[in-house]
Amino acid sequence: MKSFECGTLVPGCTWHTQAEDTAEIVRRAAEHLRNAHGEELIRPNMVDEIKARVHEKGEAVH
Ligand SMILES: [Zn+2]
Repeated sequence: MKSFECGTLVPGCTWHTQAEDTAEIVRRAAEHLRNAHGEELIRPNMVDEIKARVHEKGEAVH
């Protein structure tokens, strides 16, 4: 299971998600960025930013 915390990208945001694969995480995160942070266009580098922050649940990140 993989995990992503939006707060690692947008300081102060507590939204997070978990999914079996990175593509699903990116899809959900992009949707969240649009809805919650007004990112109308998810640029390719934004996808990279999200992927770089996806980690295996249980991994010590904090
Ligand atoms: Zn957020």
